[in-house]
Amino acid sequence: MDIIERFIEHPNLEKKEYTALLKASEEPLAAARLAEEAVRLRKKYYGDAVYVRGLIEFTNYCKNNCLYCGIRRGNPEAQRYRLTEEEILSCCESGHRLGYQTFVLQGGEDPWYTDERMERIIRAVKERYPGCAVTLSIGERSYESYRRLREAGADRYLLRHETASDAHYRKLHPPEMSLSYRKQCLYNLKELGYQAGAGFMVGTPGQTYDELAEDLLFLRELKPQMAGIGPFVPHHSTPFKNEPAGSVELTLRLLSIVRILLPGILLPATTALGTLDPLGREKGFAAGANVLMPNLSPMGRRKQYDLYDNKLCTGDEAAESLAELKKRVSAAGWRLSMERGDAAEEPEDKR
Ligand code: SAH
Repeated sequence: MDIIERFIEHPNLEKKEYTALLKASEEPLAAARLAEEAVRLRKKYYGDAVYVRGLIEFTNYCKNNCLYCGIRRGNPEAQRYRLTEEEILSCCESGHRLGYQTFVLQGGEDPWYTDERMERIIRAVKERYPGCAVTLSIGERSYESYRRLREAGADRYLLRHETASDAHYRKLHPPEMSLSYRKQCLYNLKELGYQAGAGFMVGTPGQTYDELAEDLLFLRELKPQMAGIGPFVPHHSTPFKNEPAGSVELTLRLLSIVRILLPGILLPATTALGTLDPLGREKGFAAGANVLMPNLSPMGRRKQYDLYDNKLCTGDEAAESLAELKKRVSAAGWRLSMERGDAAEEPEDKR
């Protein structure tokens, strides 16, 4: 039996077999077979629903200097901003009026937002919108900090591991950052009862199938409730400005593979996918994705949260264009759902 069918039947392979699987999936028929199985599983767990999350990018200050990222500390061209508590609440207010039930508060690693300030913000959002889920995406913090924010009411946390290969991690990050600490953060988040989201970029400079195989092994071990998987896109004022973007096709194959590996997982069709290909998000759904994260940040700030070049920020991905989005999702054969969309109970079973 070939590696594709073997994986579909028994997704727990060894590292070198995942490498072979990625190689074999270059064949369009193989990729289609993976997508078919991924769609079967996503329907089994989530029906035809595509869940939406309102993304509020509330600060682009960052103390880190990741080589790929446009809001890295070392980019003097970035125009920095911070949203006040009132501004954040007013984003939630517009989102809530549109029917959003999840708010994702994302930012650079900005020490201005101390635990006290974050607790206040989380409590204020939860008090006004008790039925809504609050997702944080504010990087690495201590166990104690995660504990306090969870206690204040945060439900979910997105922290992509970026790459699970130590050697590759070091090529993407400055020496003061470490993969082991980032992984530990993810285990801490899970232990504290967050629905945790890991994830990685596809096609970062020099990335190999072997390294992507490590991402698959890590996801299998961590069993996160969510995973953000998007192509690398260069930013003009980072050290990676002349590097090619990641491949849309490879990203789609990885979405299918991760869906098969962890069938109950929530997988966004990412903004980066939509940036590289106008139909990227539709292709993402056809490969096994089931989440969209439209932008709810104040209109005037969207351009400033500039992670990579040409990041979508004014079209259909905008949270206000819900009617447009609904149409696009329906046209692709899915149903935009305004439910909270928590992760399925058993992220692994019921194959
Ligand atoms: N500070 C938070 C949020 C980071 S921004 C944290 O550390 O988790 C959210 C994600 O954008 C990152 O996790 C990274 O995977 C992605 N990203 C950053 N720069 C990118 C680029 N040039 N191309 C594609 N994705 C990028």
